[in-house]
Amino acid sequence: MSKQTPVPKEKERLLQEQAQLIDELSRLRELMQAEVDIEPDEGDAEIFEREKNAALIAVLEAKLQNVQAALRLIDKGNYGICTRCGKPIDPGRLEAKPDATLCVSCQEEVERLSRRGRPGRQIQW
Ligand SMILES: [Zn+2]
Repeated sequence: MSKQTPVPKEKERLLQEQAQLIDELSRLRELMQAEVDIEPDEGDAEIFEREKNAALIAVLEAKLQNVQAALRLIDKGNYGICTRCGKPIDPGRLEAKPDATLCVSCQEEVERLSRRGRPGRQIQW
């Protein structure tokens, strides 16, 4: 006899988010492929637009990977546990960010470390 566990609401949210991200990514990738003719006058704006899209694609891809990692954790029954230190993640944090796989202090630590290794260019939305 197999025990049927209901789909947790976090999983539903993550699946929805995953679908949205995949949609958005394919739309952006199409856009990137479509815009090949650059008018000299509009060159700068076009290039800026493309750079913005490329940056956005990178952000969405990272987000999608997070969402998929969280979905795998749900399937393994490890959802809500920090993958770095093994402590439970604050439920309020999971509510706000269902794809969180790190607790707040590990997240801050990882961000601090990755910022140090990267060039200081930041794109403002
Ligand atoms: Zn942690």
